Amino acid sequence: MDKQELYRKIPRMDSLLENQSVLEMKEKHGKGSTVRIIREVLEELRRMIAEEKIEDDFEEWIVRRAAEKMDREHQPHFRRVINGTGIILHTNLGRAPMGNRMSEYLARLMAGYSNLEFDLCTGERGSRWKHFEQLICRITKAEAAVAVNNNAAAILLILTALAQEKEVIVSRGELVEVGGKFRIPDVMEQSRAILKEVGTTNRTRIEDYEKAAGQDTAALMKVHTSNYKIIGFSEAVEIRELAELAQAKGIPLIADLGSGVFVPLEEYGMEHEPMVQEAIADGAHLVCFSGDKLLGGPQAGIIAGKKEYVEKIRKHPLMRALRPDKCTVAALEYIFMQYLDQEKVWDEVPALHMLSRSLFQLKNQSKKLCRELKEKGLRADCQLCTCFSMTGGGSLPAEQIESFGISVSPWNLSAQQLKEKLLAWRVPVIGKLEKDRWILDLRTVFPEEMEELKEALLWACANENFTVDRK
Ligand SMILES: *Cc1c(COP(=O)(O)O)cnc(C)c1O
Repeated sequence: MDKQELYRKIPRMDSLLENQSVLEMKEKHGKGSTVRIIREVLEELRRMIAEEKIEDDFEEWIVRRAAEKMDREHQPHFRRVINGTGIILHTNLGRAPMGNRMSEYLARLMAGYSNLEFDLCTGERGSRWKHFEQLICRITKAEAAVAVNNNAAAILLILTALAQEKEVIVSRGELVEVGGKFRIPDVMEQSRAILKEVGTTNRTRIEDYEKAAGQDTAALMKVHTSNYKIIGFSEAVEIRELAELAQAKGIPLIADLGSGVFVPLEEYGMEHEPMVQEAIADGAHLVCFSGDKLLGGPQAGIIAGKKEYVEKIRKHPLMRALRPDKCTVAALEYIFMQYLDQEKVWDEVPALHMLSRSLFQLKNQSKKLCRELKEKGLRADCQLCTCFSMTGGGSLPAEQIESFGISVSPWNLSAQQLKEKLLAWRVPVIGKLEKDRWILDLRTVFPEEMEELKEALLWACANENFTVDRK
């Protein structure tokens, strides 16, 4: 057909806006964006006519294309994913998952107004710290507590408030980089505290601290080296001894604990990690730790310890810039409430629950998953496999936790292609690539994700000619 004739057959905007599907689109997404998208599609159509790629069924094509474009625009970039890596506190996957109960609790509280800074007894202005301070004190036995955006902010704030232009003594073995280029010495510099290194990489003794502490010393600091381990000839000074020295000098001992552990991990076959309540009991004047590592809560940095120091920190102007938002405040209260019972907490906090899942149960679930996938006609070899989970998030570096999962080798795709397709699925699935197998560790998959996971695998292994459409 003559091109001019084809151009004349392009439907007009007003008539398109009467099309049933377009009316629905307008209702859902608004007239402005519907018209804009249809304009774009009409331009595309003119190009297609010019290139002789389309001859008829214009309206149907326009409507379908507009719906595709609209869906793409409204597909959020930040999405839920299924974590099949076995890394429980995966920093790139949002660290500690909050679970359904906590999320529903937060959703209800965030939907409307709240008493964030309102005292329900007096009807006057209240304090955001009240929602969780007593709870933290009860669990840690600290005198006072505050929270900021993350543990890096906690360290910055503590040092700025207590040690500006003064010396802070730290062991050379503890001057760590925590990840994402976050180095303890760099944070000190930002706070304008003066770093005084003592000891050597592998050995530091109490005399080293003693000799270094003088007139200009504002604090002793101990950093829990949670993301690496010195094995062999090494020596570090314990909190108890450091706290006594600090006390004698009239300065605080600050302990950056990294991960906030409140439960004895050895009960589930892991190595004992220093617990927050132990550090306080051993005399640390201030401790700080992350909210979204082994505590299993929101991104936050929690500071707890002696009232005189916490108050100084709370009143520092920088506090206003680093204070947590209402969602974090709510999540902190919720998570600490779970720790009121030392047994139940293992079931209530998803990160702890995942850590404590039994091998027997993981094996059975993996077997069942394999069987069900085969029954549904999975176009791949699927086998039960053993693997190792990790806590991640810079916690328990040496700990490899035995686990079970499945290994998948598709018949008509490479493992690499399978990996890419699973990332492009409605709920992206992230696993591990090992040679020509794709492996999923079941430990970090929530039971309610199992159906989606099966659907994803069946789809990914079946559909062979597929190109990844990245946003
Ligand atoms: C993880 C970690 C931090 C940083 O905590 P964020 O909450 O990620 O800011 C600081 N110190 C130590 C020892 C850590 O392990």
